[in-house]
Amino acid sequence: MCEALYESRSQIALSLDELPKKWYNVVPDLPEPLSPPKDPEEGPSRLDLMKGLMVEECLRQELSTERWIPIPHEVQELYVQAGRPRPLYRALRLERALKLKRVRLYYKREDLSPTGSHKVNTALAQAYYAANEGKSTLITETGAGQWGTALSYAARLSGLDSVIFWVRSVYDWKVDRRFFMQLLGATVYPSPSDRTSVGREFLARDPHHPGSLGIAISEGLEYAEAHEGAAYCLGSVLNHVLLHQTIIGLETMKQFELIDDEPDLIVACLGGGSNFGGIALPFIGEVLEGKRECEFLAAQSEAAPNLVKGEYRYDFGDVAERTPLLKMYTLGHKVEMPPIKADGLRYHGAAPIVSLLRHLGIVKAVAYPIDERAVFEAARLFLQSEGWLIAPESSYAVRAAIDKALEYERMNEEKVICMNISGHGLLDIPAYKERILGLS
Ligand SMILES: *Cc1c(COP(=O)(O)O)cnc(C)c1O
Repeated sequence: MCEALYESRSQIALSLDELPKKWYNVVPDLPEPLSPPKDPEEGPSRLDLMKGLMVEECLRQELSTERWIPIPHEVQELYVQAGRPRPLYRALRLERALKLKRVRLYYKREDLSPTGSHKVNTALAQAYYAANEGKSTLITETGAGQWGTALSYAARLSGLDSVIFWVRSVYDWKVDRRFFMQLLGATVYPSPSDRTSVGREFLARDPHHPGSLGIAISEGLEYAEAHEGAAYCLGSVLNHVLLHQTIIGLETMKQFELIDDEPDLIVACLGGGSNFGGIALPFIGEVLEGKRECEFLAAQSEAAPNLVKGEYRYDFGDVAERTPLLKMYTLGHKVEMPPIKADGLRYHGAAPIVSLLRHLGIVKAVAYPIDERAVFEAARLFLQSEGWLIAPESSYAVRAAIDKALEYERMNEEKVICMNISGHGLLDIPAYKERILGLS
């Protein structure tokens, strides 16, 4: 019955009752133990600093080896409030535009998010736990602005304040997104700012310093340390963030079951690894168990090709070396990354979980040139066929999925590709304007 129902339809929806009730933790199923975070040989303990600033439940989840972690009832309600479960779409129109005969394309709709990205999935959980633990303010940094917006939103829904340190070069031009955060009640500072000693040091050297994610993380940590009732939140890379994001893959798995189809390849863009991990990890768990066959491809920018060109070793998460050392694929925490429109993909390291899976050959990666021509061309084709304007970051996933689809077609292989659309592009029109006008 289901098959007939969905045969000619593009949208595969779950009912509210089908919202997953547990997150999936891949850690106990990894073929090799995950190398734990550690302190550098010199200086104060970063682990102790982080422990003091993080939400306690998030810290517990960071270290958890339980395979399934219940989603609190209140967080399930918040997910529903934010529009979950989100649909999976069959990209029938894009398939037609590409003249595909053997390859089926699907996409998961994380763009249907109140703030524009998948980041609300972890922001809502973190804010809920923080409120439960009596915290009053959530502190964070943001690069592209998506994480800052998601945390501002989640803080407000749980009755908390939020303070966002936003990389100045982006803060300056994304005026609408800045206003969106402020409208949600957040306090937003351009970073480097005069609010912290790290920020003041950079400003003294250059009053117009463009900032970086690393500097903003350092500022957020310092600010949180100095303020009672503050909790520091992170939007990617860490285990607990990927854990919360598995809601994406768990829903997607149920949706494929409904239509009796299954993906041979899952593609997502990757900056720090949270949307990639979110959609891929539940499937990877079943691959590791021998229950299914599927491949996994991370789409990156050559501006920050951490999985493609990085080294697998311990490195800091920020430029000022305030975070613990994480074992990950890294370009080096002091590396300069050229600016691109898909700012969310500009991070020097990939999540330890995804890094280990890459090291083991289970995850593959590809990087696209910094002129972003190919990816914006893919985003335009997606808009003109499917009708949805996606985030610049997500266009990397679409580009990679299209390239793989055309390759399978040429080789006469029947394949199913599922891509994750990590966000919408309705606040990224200026980026489209610049890149697309540059194209035509
Ligand atoms: C933040 C962001 C990304 C990159 O972060 P990951 O942790 O790698 O997922 C990708 N897409 C969008 C829309 C984002 O906001």
